[in-house]
Amino acid sequence: MTSVAVLGSTGSIGTQTLDVIRSNPEDFSVEVLAAGSSVDSVVKQIEEFKPSSVVMANAEACEKIKSEFDSLQVYHGKESLEKAATESDIIVNAIVGFAGLPVTLSALNAGKRLALANKESLIAGGPVVRKVRESTNAEIIPVDSEHCALHQCLRGNGVNSNRSVKKLLLTASGGPFREWTHDQLKQVTVEDALNHPTWNMGPKITVDSSTLMNKGLEIIEAHELFGIPYRQIDVVVHPQSIVHSMVEFIDSSVIAQLSMPDMRLPISYALQYPERGQASWGEIDWKSLNRLDFEKPNEEMFPCLSLAYEAGQIGETAPAWLNAANEIAVESFLEGLIAWTQISEVIQRTLNECDGNLAEVENDIYAADEKARAIATEIIEKL
Ligand code: NAD
Ligand code: MG
Repeated sequence: MTSVAVLGSTGSIGTQTLDVIRSNPEDFSVEVLAAGSSVDSVVKQIEEFKPSSVVMANAEACEKIKSEFDSLQVYHGKESLEKAATESDIIVNAIVGFAGLPVTLSALNAGKRLALANKESLIAGGPVVRKVRESTNAEIIPVDSEHCALHQCLRGNGVNSNRSVKKLLLTASGGPFREWTHDQLKQVTVEDALNHPTWNMGPKITVDSSTLMNKGLEIIEAHELFGIPYRQIDVVVHPQSIVHSMVEFIDSSVIAQLSMPDMRLPISYALQYPERGQASWGEIDWKSLNRLDFEKPNEEMFPCLSLAYEAGQIGETAPAWLNAANEIAVESFLEGLIAWTQISEVIQRTLNECDGNLAEVENDIYAADEKARAIATEIIEKL
């Protein structure tokens, strides 16, 4: 029986992780649950999965849960979250945003398998996460569907040295605005941006998908996970979301991974690796699948993609600035404070102020995040 900590258990990835665990009761047990503030959902999860401890981000939510379960250990705050990320065999980081960084670092420091959905921690903390991974040899199994696909394509090809890889080809659905004009993009509403054509996800990543920042973040994620230089990472728009990514080798042979867009497959892969799970997710109906399309992304209409390449190539704390500016801009868009087209503008203008500090220790990342958030907030106030 493998014990699992599901951190971010009430979100899109968290609840789908619990679906996978529910389908494999012989193999997995839930040791820890963590979430932000949604008491009712967590209470139901505790009743069903009977974890030994629960961590809430919100102190009031923590007290409410404590009062309902006598023998359960219930905590709140960053330190408790860090501790929770060291206590199970597998740590699923399904928290959204920069708040997931302590989990990533703590799980890797403890030498645990990290099933990583929280890409923001890897993007913001890249150089520091790299050092921890090197010193502890802890493994990250990506949950992000593209990176799970790449992980599968790279397996068994003798590519540990990456010498036989010519290119990583990340596929992108193109989001809901792929065919919209400049004028239409100026009128985008929150509702439009939250209406993703192929995936049903949490609000932050859904907006990121609409601006293509999600793909930008994934370029940096791929670089960090697989150690492939940026010039060898390309994006291909593939509206059907069936091919989840591809690897082109130096002999021009291409290996792709295909399945229906169902996140339970990558989650199951990360939990079961190196085996494969019995339960099946995302089975393709080959009779109804009549075409797969591929096209170039439009970087002029979706500037977030180039901004991410730029920040990734600068490296050090620049990706932390990119990530922080994006989180602030997306939050402000969701609150109705800025227009959709201003998301990239805020990020660009924040990156222009980037101080180029090195990312040597954890605190350098927190400092960069804090500074970039303050600058992005100031830019938004002036808009
Ligand atoms: P979501 O908004 O649906 O869920 C986020 C979860 O994190 C919730 O359980 C929330 O309570 C919890 N949370 C937020 N702040 C917290 C904190 N400080 N401490 C503890 N818990 C906290 O988000 P999501 O769509 O499930 O995405 C989660 C992560 O997975 C993101 O990094 C996203 O980019 C990545 N991801 C998601 C998908 C998807 O299909 N949803 C696909 C690929 C990658
Ligand atoms: Mg993805």
